[in-house]
Amino acid sequence: GKADLGVLGLGTMGAMLALNFAEKGFDVALFNRTVEKAARLRDDTPDLAGRLHPQASLEDFVAGLATPRVIVLMVNAGTAVDDQIDALLPMLARGDIVIDAGNTDFNDTRARNARLEGTGIHFVGMGVSGGELGARHGPSIMVGGDEDVWARLRPLLEPISAKFDGSPCVAWLGTDGAGHFVKTIHNGIEYADMQMIAEIYGIMRDGLGLAPARMAEVFADWNTRGLASYLVEISAVVLAEADPETGAPLVDLIVDEAGQKGTGRWSAIEAQKLGVGATTLEAAVSARIISSQRGQRAEAATAFGSLALAGSDFSADAAGIAELESALETAKIIAYAQGYAILSAASAEFGWNLPLGEIARIWRAGCIIRSGFLRDIMTAYESGGEEANLLLNPAFARRVETGQAALRAVVAKAVLAGIPVPALSAALAYFDDYRRAHGTANLIQGQRDLFGAHTFKRLDRDGVFHHQWPAV
Ligand code: NDP
Repeated sequence: GKADLGVLGLGTMGAMLALNFAEKGFDVALFNRTVEKAARLRDDTPDLAGRLHPQASLEDFVAGLATPRVIVLMVNAGTAVDDQIDALLPMLARGDIVIDAGNTDFNDTRARNARLEGTGIHFVGMGVSGGELGARHGPSIMVGGDEDVWARLRPLLEPISAKFDGSPCVAWLGTDGAGHFVKTIHNGIEYADMQMIAEIYGIMRDGLGLAPARMAEVFADWNTRGLASYLVEISAVVLAEADPETGAPLVDLIVDEAGQKGTGRWSAIEAQKLGVGATTLEAAVSARIISSQRGQRAEAATAFGSLALAGSDFSADAAGIAELESALETAKIIAYAQGYAILSAASAEFGWNLPLGEIARIWRAGCIIRSGFLRDIMTAYESGGEEANLLLNPAFARRVETGQAALRAVVAKAVLAGIPVPALSAALAYFDDYRRAHGTANLIQGQRDLFGAHTFKRLDRDGVFHHQWPAV
């Protein structure tokens, strides 16, 4: 018999996705550039070997698939995807579906959709979140492409996806690049969330002098309430871990340089292109960049010294810890509001009609930002929330109103102590800016009109004006 689908690219993610499909009862053809990997995957997984069909050539791989074919590409984003499409195209027929499941720039996905349009071969950009474990046991899956293809993919993807209360965390989100775009913004929100957690950790370490084991208890406790989430949960696990050799807290031995593979940066770039202020995502991307400049930071620390502990007004008593919790929760709401504002703008720009509540629904399990909080976002959109920004939704507005005092206090104390809180302060600044009916851009418009005759509008009259400013 022929295989139900094929997985091409058996690196970390592809191998795990293939095993996930096989476990759910699908026959999976396997192919990899380094050909031996396919047979090795089958041999290493005796319990699923009957449904894993390694192939020695791309021709055999394609020939081994039931038609119309479904091929999942899980190779590195970029030219590898184009190379595989080029190699596959001559062997495919009308109705076949090629899915790019990697972390691809949605602009590339749009271009590939355009390229394959009219060939009868469907191209689907699909975001997969949850890392290696997610791919193996149930990722959150964001599907783009033509809507009629979704009917065919649904029976394959629902079984392998994460489930939240039995509901599969996979959905078709819109045409062409919609799935990859939503995955990109997922990662941008993930960056902001991780950065804000790390800033709170920085306050606990440099402002309060808490031991990692104690911080682990605090995060584990927070994980039982409003902040309950995978990222807070794993923060507690990381902080509690001891180095097996020295017994020292492992977190103290890890070099403070964050890696990044691009999707967080793309989210900030796309936000800017769409004209959406996404300051927390931008702050998180910049913070990772600065983290990677470790040598320069050491030099600057010598030159300027760093403040902390001595000058800190933070308190480790119950009220002080509760203030940190409330600050993080409030900043998180603001970060997610920014992420959703990017999704709204893209939806309008690209004509996707993104189902915003549905996106929160499929993020509730499987992906890195899964959290109880996403249920609240889902509810906000599904109860008809038409607000331009989540912060204007009554339920979130109340929470931010209550929590803003804590966020303000935490940011103020951190600033005075010299503890950097770029994402938390960006969240607060955005909130203060967003809720200020009378801003300061009137001065900017005056400057622009003076140096470039860019004109301005007036509060007291309709129309567009240019003023004869005194010569400077
Ligand atoms: P790996 O590096 O583990 O695997 C890469 C795979 O791509 C290998 O099978 C490799 O083949 C193949 N490949 C690379 N270049 C080419 C090429 N030019 N032609 C053919 N095959 C090629 O990567 P991952 O599995 O981690 O990631 C795959 C994709 O999934 C990426 O887009 C990544 O961003 C995305 N992703 C990764 C996540 C993660 O947690 N790791 C989470 C979500 C998405 P070979 O064995 O021959 O080298």
